[in-house]
Amino acid sequence: MSFSDSVLICDEVNPILNKILDENGLKVTYDPEISPEKILETIGQFNIVIVRSRTKITKEMIEKAKNCKIIARVGVGLDNIDLDAAKEKNIRVINAVEGAMTAVAELVLGLMFGLARQIPRGDRGIRNDQWLKKDLKGTELKGKYLGIVGLGNIGKRLGRLARGLNMNIIGYDVIPIDEEFVKDVGLMKADLDTLLQSSDYVSLHVPLLDSTYHMIDAKKLATMKPTARIINTSRGGVIDEEALYDAIKNGKFGGAALDVFETEPATGNKLAELDNVILTPHIGAMTKEAQSLAANVIAEKIVQILRGVI
Ligand code: NAD
Repeated sequence: MSFSDSVLICDEVNPILNKILDENGLKVTYDPEISPEKILETIGQFNIVIVRSRTKITKEMIEKAKNCKIIARVGVGLDNIDLDAAKEKNIRVINAVEGAMTAVAELVLGLMFGLARQIPRGDRGIRNDQWLKKDLKGTELKGKYLGIVGLGNIGKRLGRLARGLNMNIIGYDVIPIDEEFVKDVGLMKADLDTLLQSSDYVSLHVPLLDSTYHMIDAKKLATMKPTARIINTSRGGVIDEEALYDAIKNGKFGGAALDVFETEPATGNKLAELDNVILTPHIGAMTKEAQSLAANVIAEKIVQILRGVI
C-alpha cells in the first residue's frame, strides 16, 4: 500500500475526508451517487473503498475488488459491508466508532422528552387546527427508571447524560460493564428480564446480530410496565415491529420512538398510525459534528495504515 493509492468514495461524506486524503497524495474519486452496477464495473481499479450508509458492499463487489486493501465505513455499524467476503480476500475493514456517540445519545434524550411530553402530537394538533392542551398531560423524566440495553460507546454516553437529568439508570450487557461508569452513574446492573420489568424507558444500543434479532418481541413486551416506552436507535430488527404495533395499538404498552427500522426507508410503516409513537428517518448520526468527526477519524486511520503505524 502506498500514498499514491486510489480511493473510491461511494457516499456523501464530509469534505474534510476528501481534503485530508488529497493532501496526503491519494488519488480520490468522489462519486456520492454511484450505482451498484457502476461500483461492480469500476471497483477493480481502486485500493481503498469508502462508504457511509447508502452503499452496500456485497460479496460480488468484493470478488471484483482485485486491488482493494481497505474498505472504510464513515460511521459505526458495518452491516452494509459483507465482512466474511472481505476477510476471505484479506481486505481490512475499518470504521469510526467514536463519531456518533454524542449525536445518537442526544437524539435518544430528544426522543424521550418527545414521548414524555407528546411534543410531536401537540405540534401535529396545531397544524390541524386542534388545541390539544387537555389531552397532553405529560410526565417528567426526573426520577424515572431508564434501562439501557448494550453499554458500549453510545449506551454509556446516554447513561451519563440521563444521570444528569436525575434518572435512575439500569444497565444490561453481555460483557462486563466498565466499573468506573457503574460508579459514576450509580448504575444498577441487571439481567435483561429484570431491566425490562423495572424500566419506565428502555433504550436499545446493541448491534444487529443473530442473538439480538427480535430480542424485544411480543413475549418481552408483555413483561414490561404497560406505561413503559421503548426507544430504538440501534438497528431495525432488534425490535419485532409487528409485536410492538400490536402491543401499543391494544393499549398494553406505553409508546415507542424508532430511528431505525426493519425496512428502510420506512415510509408507509404502519407504526405511523399510532399517536404515541415517534418515528425519525435514521438520523442518529446526522449531526454536523458527528459527520465531521467520523470523516476525520477515517482519514486519520487510513493515513496511519499507509504509514504502517496501525
Ligand atoms: P458498541 O459496539 O460500542 O456497543 C454495543 C454493545 O452492545 C457492546 O457493549 C456489546 O457487548 C453489547 N451487546 C452485544 N450483544 C448484546 C446483547 N445480546 N445484549 C446486550 N448487550 C449486547 O456500539 P455503539 O457504537 O454503542 O453502537 C450501538 C448501536 O447503535 C449499533 O447497532 C450501531 O450500529 C447503532 N448506531 C446507530 C446510529 C443511528 O444513526 N441511529 C448511529 C451509530 C450507531
